[in-house]
Amino acid sequence: MPNIIIIGSGFAGISASLTVAKNGFNVILISNMPAERSQSVMAEGGINAALNSKNENDSVENHFEDTIKSGWYLADPNAVKALTDNAPSILNRLVQLGVIFNRDENGNIDLRNFGGQKKKRTAFAKSSSGKQIMSALIQELRKYESKGLIKRKSSHSFLKLVKDNTGNCIGCIIIDNKTDKIIPLKGDGVIIASGGMQGLFRNTTGSLNNNSITTAELFVSGVSIANTEFIQYHPTTVKFSRKNLLISEAARGEGGRLFTNYNNKKSYFMEEKYPELGNLMPRDIVSKEIWKIMNNNVMNNNTNINDNNIFSDKENSMKKSSVFLDLTQINNDKLEDNLLDILEDCETFLNINPKKEPIEVQPGIHYFMGGIKVDEHHNSSVNYLYAAGECCCQYHGANRIGGNSILGAIFGGVTAGNTFIEDIKSKLDIKNIIINNIENSISESDISEIKNDINLKKEYDDIFKKEISYLKNNIDLMKNRNKKTSIYSIKSELSYILEKSLGIFREEKELENGIFLINKLINEKVKDCYDCKSSIYENLNIENLCILGKSILKSAIIRKESRGAHQRLDFPETDDINFKKITVVNYHNNKININFEDIPNFRK
Ligand SMILES: Cc1cc2nc3c(=O)[nH]c(=O)nc-3n(C[C@H](O)[C@H](O)[C@H](O)COP(=O)(O)OP(=O)(O)OC[C@H]3O[C@@H](n4cnc5c(N)ncnc54)[C@H](O)[C@@H]3O)c2cc1C
Repeated sequence: MPNIIIIGSGFAGISASLTVAKNGFNVILISNMPAERSQSVMAEGGINAALNSKNENDSVENHFEDTIKSGWYLADPNAVKALTDNAPSILNRLVQLGVIFNRDENGNIDLRNFGGQKKKRTAFAKSSSGKQIMSALIQELRKYESKGLIKRKSSHSFLKLVKDNTGNCIGCIIIDNKTDKIIPLKGDGVIIASGGMQGLFRNTTGSLNNNSITTAELFVSGVSIANTEFIQYHPTTVKFSRKNLLISEAARGEGGRLFTNYNNKKSYFMEEKYPELGNLMPRDIVSKEIWKIMNNNVMNNNTNINDNNIFSDKENSMKKSSVFLDLTQINNDKLEDNLLDILEDCETFLNINPKKEPIEVQPGIHYFMGGIKVDEHHNSSVNYLYAAGECCCQYHGANRIGGNSILGAIFGGVTAGNTFIEDIKSKLDIKNIIINNIENSISESDISEIKNDINLKKEYDDIFKKEISYLKNNIDLMKNRNKKTSIYSIKSELSYILEKSLGIFREEKELENGIFLINKLINEKVKDCYDCKSSIYENLNIENLCILGKSILKSAIIRKESRGAHQRLDFPETDDINFKKITVVNYHNNKININFEDIPNFRK
């Protein structure tokens, strides 16, 4: 029976696993942490679907339009159409699996407002939507685990993709995080679902366990990535313990208001400037407005910021000030019913009671619109390698709307799984996979048995042996290096450089300086160094992370326009003629190459 290897057990990885297993194929689900600790669990606000349960004449067409428009017309319209058309059935499926979404007084699934959307469209389970959805998906996953169709292995990390002589993916190599044992896994395909590039940065709302190493390794081995310059800053985060605590958009969806103090009065700047959507404008716009208030008059001293007219007259007259999110006007029952996690987080970590006092907020890195390049079927640039969820570049264009990410991860996982099934059926000329196989399939879940099982396929043995001996040789050489270093400090330096260059507003000088500093970092601290206090895995991959960081900076330099989450002080206008395109990046012969590709035509 054909088998697939899936890397990552967040919503994307689990959805792909269920799709493939339901069709009778074997799945090996690898992740460096158990599913229960994936970033997906952190989702609070909810998931979008045009259910129209509020009788606002919402429709899948409206959902499509909001997604495309908020993404600044950079998303693949055919992929978005499939996503938004399928959203209601995905939601219904989640209900069938036992997710307890909030209901309104008529018993319909309650919907809340979220940014960038004129209609109420976001279904939620109090403010712990991620936990609820994950519990239901894991319960379903266990059914297939007990039948031996899915073998879940956490505490293992992706190390290397393996391709045959024609460049087709034939599996991968993983490493046991506890023992450093290197394990070959042959597969008929590999789906990458390893989450966003949070690990390249420090000040993010997300999980640093998403270490970006999978994307970096794939990129360096020739897999295309796309649109990585589009990094979403969430408008309302609070700096906390060297990370950013998210105050979910749900807080504004339920009536929270942003204000700053201007001339001794509260100025509700979003409501004043954008009367239609106010506090619920798309995230790129809210973050930009908050940034301007927080940085006014300070930046003016050392950049030509004023020449670019990014400040209005009123903003020009403002001093640098703080921005607050006010939830005191929301009634207590609603706060406790719909935003309980936010109340608890504020009280536990910030010592703030949002029922009584406003929360001081600032934008923070939250989501990555770019990543591994995939087409609408979630094929990557390598045959039989697929990607889904936040690790890939799909659905969100230049800016993601809230509530579309869980949806994109689940739908993307299902789509990638289905694409694999179709590919493998035509490759092996299988007409129908007989579902009875579920009952007869093997039940062992030990990785060594998986290994033996897979090793029965002698084909490709030589390729795997060669890759393993190459890796082992590299590890021996690395361990003998004399120059000592600290991976922890290199990673801190790398994220500092990236955060400084890739802020909400960017300019060429700073981006070029970022590349200069990363090159210096590689030459002085990464090359020929070994850190015995860090894992083999981190040592093997630190240079790849630096290369991935450089490629993001290069993409940001070459996109000489402002669009969505990519705002250039030196190119403040949107340039549709030259840049309404996808930034595609490849690594070949130690060089980063960038091209722009047209957005696919909409088939309607
Ligand atoms: C605080 C917060 C709140 C959010 N709220 C919402 C919301 O309300 N609505 C919404 O739509 N979106 C929300 N999001 C975004 C959304 O949760 C994520 O984008 C989405 O869940 C990503 O799912 P995923 O399956 O792609 O990745 P993840 O859930 O991030 O899972 C990645 C998986 O890959 C594994 N992995 C990572 N690196 C490796 C490696 N090298 N080797 C092996 N395994 C690896 C991890 O262990 C994990 O299992 C929120 C995000 C955050 C941070």
